[in-house]
Amino acid sequence: MTHVTQTYAALRTLAFGILAVVSITLTPVFADDHAGHGAAHVDAGQVQAILHHILTANAGFVNRTGPNHFHPFLEAQHPKATVISCCDSRVQMQAISAEPDNELFVIRNIGNQISTAEGSVEYGVHHLHTPVLLIIGHTRCGAIKAASGEYSSESQPICKELNTLKIAKGGNMVENVTLNVNNQVNAAVRKFEPEVKEGKLTVIGALYDFANDLKHGYGKLTVINVNGDCSTDKTKAYSAE
Ligand SMILES: [Zn+2]
Repeated sequence: MTHVTQTYAALRTLAFGILAVVSITLTPVFADDHAGHGAAHVDAGQVQAILHHILTANAGFVNRTGPNHFHPFLEAQHPKATVISCCDSRVQMQAISAEPDNELFVIRNIGNQISTAEGSVEYGVHHLHTPVLLIIGHTRCGAIKAASGEYSSESQPICKELNTLKIAKGGNMVENVTLNVNNQVNAAVRKFEPEVKEGKLTVIGALYDFANDLKHGYGKLTVINVNGDCSTDKTKAYSAE
């Protein structure tokens, strides 16, 4: 933490305390993700501190890499996988790639869906010709939690992106996250049937578990579906161990 962010830590604590009370009435669905915080006034110093943190991280990246890092992909990108991930800030590509530059074509949306970003997914498969389409769901997903409950008080755009998640109301979180990944894999296999049949594309469904809910380890990515086949024999063949 920089000295600037430390300076604002006390202010943040106070503001979040007030917001915790306000958000009870403002955000019934996404309360766990603290979505209500965006509605509050944020002072310029706090924004500057956030930007300072981001730009400092970027300066470190620039220093670590240098021109040679970028030269191989200045003219074109050649990613190995199209990745569909949830937007959740606890799910990041550093968990699955030491160097995602030019390696992963990443599409992110709430609930790691195809239908809400179909053009982007098509771009990865049809124009960049990635041999792998990797769909990553994750434990403790706020979108899945919201979609499994009552969310009609959300805005129309948010409802639109939750309506496309076909999961059970209520129910177990891990089961619903798993069901959504399987739904997305099945939709991808149907959508890209010619590429899958010709062996040009393999659709992989996986769960990323930052909470160790699956008891495979914190931060573990587990393959659960290969081209619609969820059998252990199949998924093991595409797993690291
Ligand atoms: Zn999520």
